Amino acid sequence: MNKKGRSFKPILVVIVVLLASIPAVWLAIIRMEGTAPAIEIGLESPFIGASRIVTVSVDDAGSGIRSVWMSLLVDGREVEILQRTFPSAGFFAGGKEKSVQVKATISPQSLGLADGKGVIRVVAWDYSLRKWGKGNQVYLEKEIRIDTKAPSIDLISRSHNLAQGGSGVALYRLSEDCPVSGVTVGDHFYPGYAGHFNDPSIYMAFFALDYQQGKGTRLAATAEDFAGNRSTAGLVYHINARSFRKDAINLSDTFFNAKMPDFDRYFPESSDGSRLDFFLKVNRELRRRDNEAFYRITAQTEKEILWDGPFLRLPRSANRARFADQRTYFYGGKVIDRQVHMGIDLASTAQSPVPAANRGKVAFTGEQGIYGNTVVLDHGFGLFTLYSHLSQIDVADGQMVEKGEIIGKTGMTGLAGGDHLHYGILIHQTYVNPIEWWDEAWIKNNISAKIDDAGPR
Ligand SMILES: [Zn+2]
Repeated sequence: MNKKGRSFKPILVVIVVLLASIPAVWLAIIRMEGTAPAIEIGLESPFIGASRIVTVSVDDAGSGIRSVWMSLLVDGREVEILQRTFPSAGFFAGGKEKSVQVKATISPQSLGLADGKGVIRVVAWDYSLRKWGKGNQVYLEKEIRIDTKAPSIDLISRSHNLAQGGSGVALYRLSEDCPVSGVTVGDHFYPGYAGHFNDPSIYMAFFALDYQQGKGTRLAATAEDFAGNRSTAGLVYHINARSFRKDAINLSDTFFNAKMPDFDRYFPESSDGSRLDFFLKVNRELRRRDNEAFYRITAQTEKEILWDGPFLRLPRSANRARFADQRTYFYGGKVIDRQVHMGIDLASTAQSPVPAANRGKVAFTGEQGIYGNTVVLDHGFGLFTLYSHLSQIDVADGQMVEKGEIIGKTGMTGLAGGDHLHYGILIHQTYVNPIEWWDEAWIKNNISAKIDDAGPR
C-alpha cells in the first residue's frame, strides 16, 4: 500500500457516512421537531344564538398540520362539531399545510344542546414523529354561553300621541340585558338605555317623527340580546299629521356680496365661478355637510336625564321662521333652490344674551358652515338643543351648564342675513319641532308623566 491510498480511504468513509446521514438529520429536524401547532379560536363574543360560525386558525411551521378537532361541552354533554385531517407531503416533508383556517357552524338546537354555559374545546396535531408518531398536540378551550331565546319586551308606556315632526318617549321592560334596544320609526332607529330607574330592567327611549313622517309611519319597540336574538313589540300610538308653512326667500346681489366671501374657504376651487352657482353649493352641499357634522355629535349622548321642566326660548324675541318651513329661494325673479328650515329663528335686539334652554352638557362649540358659530347642548338620552349664528360663545366643550345660564350672544355668523338666533332641537339624529319642548303642559303629558309612572328612581 502506498501513502496515498492509506490517507484516501478514511476520507471516503467519512463522506459516505455523512451522505448516508443526511436523511436522518433531515428527519430529526423536520419530523422530530418538538413545537406544537399554534391555535386561535375566532369568536367575536361568547354568546351563541340560533347559529354562529366559529373560526379556528392553526399554524405549524415545523412538520405541518396533521389534524384539527373541535367539540362543544354543555351541561356535561360533549358534541363533536369538527374533525379534519390534512394531507401529508411525503415521509420526509411532513404535512402539506403549514397554516389553515377552518370554520364550523354551531347551531345549538340542531345539536340538541340546551341554553346555558358551555366550553368550546379545540385540539390540533402536527406531522412530527414524536409521541410515538402521533405528533405534537395543542389544546385550547373557550367559554361560551348558549342563548337561543329572544328577549321579551314589556311596554310600560301605554299610549303615544305624536305629531309629525314631534317627539315622544317609550318605556319598556326587557326580560334580559340587551346591548341594543329602542324604538323604530319608519326606517329610523332610536336607541333606549337602562339606568334611569331603580329597576335595571326598565329601559327608556326618546324618539321622534321627522317632519316628513306622517300618519302612515310604523312604530315598534325592538330589542336584540348579546346572542343576536331579536324581538319586536307593537307600540300603541296615534300620529297627528301636520302641514308646514311655505316661505319665500328673495336673494339679492347685496346679500351675495356681503355673505359669499365668508364661504370661499369651504369651496376654494369654486370661488371664481358664478355667484349663483357658488350660493347653491353653500346652500345645498355645505348645508348637508353641516347637518352630517351635527349628526355625528348627536350620535353620542349622556345616559342620564340632565334637564328639568320646560325648555327656555330666547327672551323678548319674535319668531322669524318656523320649524320645517318649506323655503323657496328666488333670485332675479326665478326659483333657484328649495330647502327645509330645521329650527326656529328668533330675533331680539342685536347681540342678545342667549340662555341655555335647559340643564345640559356642552357637546359642541365652534364654527359650522352655514350655521356659523354654534353651541350644541346634550340634555341626555339623545335630546339636544342647538344655537346658531352666534356672535360670541361663552362656554367650552364638555362643560355642564344650568338652565338659563348664558352660553353666548346672538349674531349673524354663517348664512344669516340679520342678527337672530337659529334654535334647533334634535332627538338623536332627527330635528324636531322645538315648540313642544317650550310647552310645560306638553312635556308633562307626553314625557314627564310617562317617565314618573314607569317606576321609582
Ligand atoms: Zn334658521
